[in-house]
Amino acid sequence: MDKKLYLKTYGCQMNAYDSMRMADVLAPLGYRMVDAPAGADLVILNTCHIREKAAEKVYSELGRLRLIKEDGERLGRRMLIAVAGCVAQAQGEEILGRAPYVDIVFGPQTYHRLADMVARVEREAGVRLLDTEFPAEDKFDFLPEERAPQGVTAFLTIQEGCDRFCTFCVVPYTRGGEQSRPAAAVVAEAERLVAAGVREITLLGQNVNAYHGAGPDGGEWRLAALVRRLARIDGLARIRYTTSHPRDMDDDLIAAHGEVTKLMPFLHLPVQSGSDRVLAAMNRRHSADDYRRLIDRLRAARPDLALSSDFIVGFPGESDKDFAATLALVNDTGFAQAFSFKYSPRPGTPAADAVKQVSEAVKDERLAGLQQLLRAQQDAFNRRQLGSVLPVLFQDIGRHDGQVVGRSPYLQPVHVLAPARLLGKSAPVRIAEVLSNSLRGELAGATAGTNGHNLVEETVCT
Ligand code: SF4
Repeated sequence: MDKKLYLKTYGCQMNAYDSMRMADVLAPLGYRMVDAPAGADLVILNTCHIREKAAEKVYSELGRLRLIKEDGERLGRRMLIAVAGCVAQAQGEEILGRAPYVDIVFGPQTYHRLADMVARVEREAGVRLLDTEFPAEDKFDFLPEERAPQGVTAFLTIQEGCDRFCTFCVVPYTRGGEQSRPAAAVVAEAERLVAAGVREITLLGQNVNAYHGAGPDGGEWRLAALVRRLARIDGLARIRYTTSHPRDMDDDLIAAHGEVTKLMPFLHLPVQSGSDRVLAAMNRRHSADDYRRLIDRLRAARPDLALSSDFIVGFPGESDKDFAATLALVNDTGFAQAFSFKYSPRPGTPAADAVKQVSEAVKDERLAGLQQLLRAQQDAFNRRQLGSVLPVLFQDIGRHDGQVVGRSPYLQPVHVLAPARLLGKSAPVRIAEVLSNSLRGELAGATAGTNGHNLVEETVCT
C-alpha cells in the first residue's frame, strides 16, 4: 500500500538533490511524495545551517508538525517525523532532547541508510534513531538509481564537503571533508538523466571546482576533464556547475570555459569581500587582486562570460575602508547577478567567537549600499540583452495563454509566445523587453544571428 511522504527542503540545490535521493531511497518501502504534511505517514525536514537562525526555524516547524502528529494519533494514525541535513548533523542530540516527538535524526552523509532506519522505527514502537556519523562507506555506492526526472533541467551532485575551512562556514563541520564521486558514476547518472529528457545539467558541490574524482583511465580527473567528458553526451545541451572557490579555478577549467561550448557562459564564483584584510580573516587564501586577475583570464577565455557572486557584509572587524574595497571590487568586476548577506555567526565556526562583531545598524547600512550597486549592475546587464538574440531552453508553460518560459544561457527567465511543442528544446529568441526579474522575447528563427556561441551546440528546434 502507498504511504505518504512529505519532504520539506531548506537551503541550497545540494539539499534539493539530497531530498530527491531520499525519496528514491524510500520508494521501495512504498512511500510516494505528497505536498502537505497533514495525513502524511512520514515527514522529513531536510535542513540547512547556512542562514541565520536556521535551528530556530527548524524548531518552530517541528512545533507545527507536533500538532499534526497529535491530531493524527487521536484518529489512530501514526506519523513519523525525521530531521535531516546540516542542522541535524550539528544538533542531533539536542533535537532529540528538545523535540521528543521526533523519531529519526540523520545527517547528510547517512541517508543511504534511511530505508533501514524508517523500517526499524515503523516496526519497533518507541524506538528513536540518531545517525550523524561520517561513515567510511560512500553513500553514493549504496543509493538506488534515481527515478526519472520530471523536467528539462536537473542537478547532479559530484562532490560533497570541503577542506577549505573559511572561518564563517559550517560546511566542513556538517558535511565533512571534501569527497568526489568517481567520474564514471557521474557520467552514468548524466546519461540516464539525458535519456529521460534532461537537456541541462548543473553539477553540484559545496566546493565543486575542487572536484578530483577517480577517472576511468585510472588517473584523477579534475572538473575540466569531467566537463569535457559530459559534453560528449548526445542530447545534453547545457552544462553548469556551482558553487566554486576562486582558489580551485585551475588553468584547465579556465581553458574549458573557452573551448566547451556546452559549458554555459555564466559562472557563480563567490568572492565574499573585496578587502584583503577581511579575505585573510575569512581564510579565503586569495587577495582581491587575485580575484580580479582570475576574472580577466576567464573573460579572455570566454568573452561573453557573465558572473555571479556571494558577498558577506559586516564580517567581524570589517571597517568602512574594508567595505569601500568591496564596493570597488564590485565596480571593477561588474556582476550579472549576486547574493549578498549580513554576516551572522554560526556556532562552532572561528569567526563566531571574534571579539570585534559589527553592529546590526552598520551591517544594515552596508548591505543596503551593496545591494543597490549590485541591483544596478544586474539591471544594466539585463538591459544590454535588449534586441539581442539568445538561445533559450524552454522549460515550462507560461502563466499567459500561448506562452512558454525558458532560460537564457545567463539563467534569466525568458517569456515567449510560442507553441508548447518547444518544451525541452532550445530556440533563438530576440529579446524584446526587459522586465524587473525576467525578459520577454520573440522567436527569432534558427537562422538569426546570436550574440554568443552557445547556439551552435544547442538543439535548435525546427
Ligand atoms: S569554500 Fe565554501 S563550503 Fe568550503 S568552507 Fe569556504 S564557504 Fe564553506
